Order: sequence, then C-alpha cells, then structure tokens
Amino acid sequence: MDYRVLLYYQYTPITDPKQFAKEHLAFCRSLDLKGRILVAEEGINGTLSGTKEATDQYMDFMHQDERFKDTFFKVDESEEHAFKKMFVRPRKELVSLNLEDDIDPTTLTGNYLEPEEFKAALLDENTVVIDARNDYEYDLGHFRGAVRPDIRAFRELPEWIRANKEKFMDKKVVTYCTGGIRCEKFSGWMLREGFEDVAQLHGGIANYGKNPATKGELWDGKMYVFDERISVEINQVDKQVVGKEWFDGTPCERYINCSNPECNRQILVSEENEARYLGACSYDCACHEHNRYAAEHGLTQAERQRRLAKIVQM
Ligand SMILES: [Zn+2]
Repeated sequence: MDYRVLLYYQYTPITDPKQFAKEHLAFCRSLDLKGRILVAEEGINGTLSGTKEATDQYMDFMHQDERFKDTFFKVDESEEHAFKKMFVRPRKELVSLNLEDDIDPTTLTGNYLEPEEFKAALLDENTVVIDARNDYEYDLGHFRGAVRPDIRAFRELPEWIRANKEKFMDKKVVTYCTGGIRCEKFSGWMLREGFEDVAQLHGGIANYGKNPATKGELWDGKMYVFDERISVEINQVDKQVVGKEWFDGTPCERYINCSNPECNRQILVSEENEARYLGACSYDCACHEHNRYAAEHGLTQAERQRRLAKIVQM
C-alpha cells in the first residue's frame, strides 16, 4: 500500500475562491496529487489520492495555514490513485441544502459526538439516528436502525424532514454522513427548524470505521465513496451485506450507473442482470437510443434486439 486517499473539509472564510483554486491546483499538480477539491467563500472540501510522501506534504502544507491548522484528515491506505485527474473548482457553496438563508456551521451546528458516543446513541431508544446522505448511498450500507430519508440529492433533505417532522420532534436527533461536511449544515438547519437536541457524528462514517474503540461496529454493508473505489469497508467486527440487487432483491454490493446517459441512476446490479438489461435500470432505459452499454460492449444491433426482446418476455 504505497498510496493514500485523503478526505477532509474545513468551514472557514476564503476571500477569493477563484484565485485560491488556481494556486491550489498548481500546488496539487506539483505533488502529482489527483482528486476533487471544492472551494467556496465558506471553506474547502476535498478528496485526494497520492503517494504517502505527497499526501504528507499536502497535509503539512495545509496545517501551516492559519485557516486550516485544525483541519482533520481522514486517511485511507490504497494501492493506487483513486482518481484519474486533479480538479480544484470554485463554487458558491460546498454543499447545498437549497436554502434562501444558508446555514453557517461556524456559528450554528449540532453537538459533535465522537465515535464511541455515537455508538451509544445508536443503542439508545430515545435517540433517532438520521442518515443525511442520499438514498443510493444508504442502500449500499448504513448504521443499523438509522432512518433513510427518501431523497436522491442533499438539497431535498429539508423538505423531507418537514414532511416527516412528527417522527423526530420529541426525540434526541443524531445525524451522520460520509465525512461530516453535510451534517455540519444539516444539523445546524435542524436546530434552526426548532429541533432542540441535535448532534452529529464527528468526522463522519469514515472516522467511525477507523476508530480503534468502535471498529465500525453496528454499520451494515459498505460505505459509498465518491471516487473510483466506489465503496469501502467500515465494519471490522461483524460485517453484513444489506445491499439488494435492483431487479431480483438478492444480496448485492455491485454498483453501476444506468447506461441511459439521460438517467444515470446508481443501482446495485449483478453481472448477470447487467448483461441481461444492457446495463440499464429499466426496459425504457435499455431501449434508449444513446444507451452506452451496447457501444461499450461492442454488441451488434441484432444482439441488442435479442436481449431487449428477452426482457419483454420476462
Ligand atoms: Zn435508467
């Protein structure tokens, strides 16, 4: 394992995100780092891969900057780069709840729970644990007993919470996400909405999985990640598969994007059903004129028609 994957964020004022992004990109390239970094006036959010030496240099460089001196890096070992390219992009916000009046987590956010405290909250029947990620992330893996908001993007979360308010209003609420950045805003928003007791998992699932005391216990399945690995293990104690195959419901942890470029839905699919459904999530997507599967797998028109006809018969 000569490489590492870093995941981090910091809410802190950055006055000129455009200029910052330009200089930061040049620095990352000089270290041959690859990955994706977003920069906004509210802070920075990044995930990067590189050699041990390069990632050490990067973390040192960041920690020397007053704005990032306390930035917490989640570090995974890796055999190779987890990204193909290096992007540093200026953005309006790091993560969006689609609010007119956005939350500033440096002034309003939920209490931080360390992994062991979070584990206790998971076992406490007066606490509701809400997964602040998207439905497809939850479906691959989640904390045992956590609430699954029915959303495909983070910005839909406030509306979903408002529609389901009565489930949480008189309980302690704890939220979690991959690395913690989404919960910083989401838990702050929950407080502003009138929820009184709101906490968040510090450092997210990534930190919980590495913690020597919790060892990822009470996590089921795998954790979805936004790089070429697609998913990583979290539970080192009693791992269970919770992912279900999109078509037949059998246990499955294999992610693909629907091959209809206008759909792209992320689904768990077996190799067999991927071939059967031409990499699509539905018959309609399989029939789409720009379906990528046929081209990528060199299928003849006749073979494509044969498979489509078979789907109809099923
Ligand atoms: Zn589709």
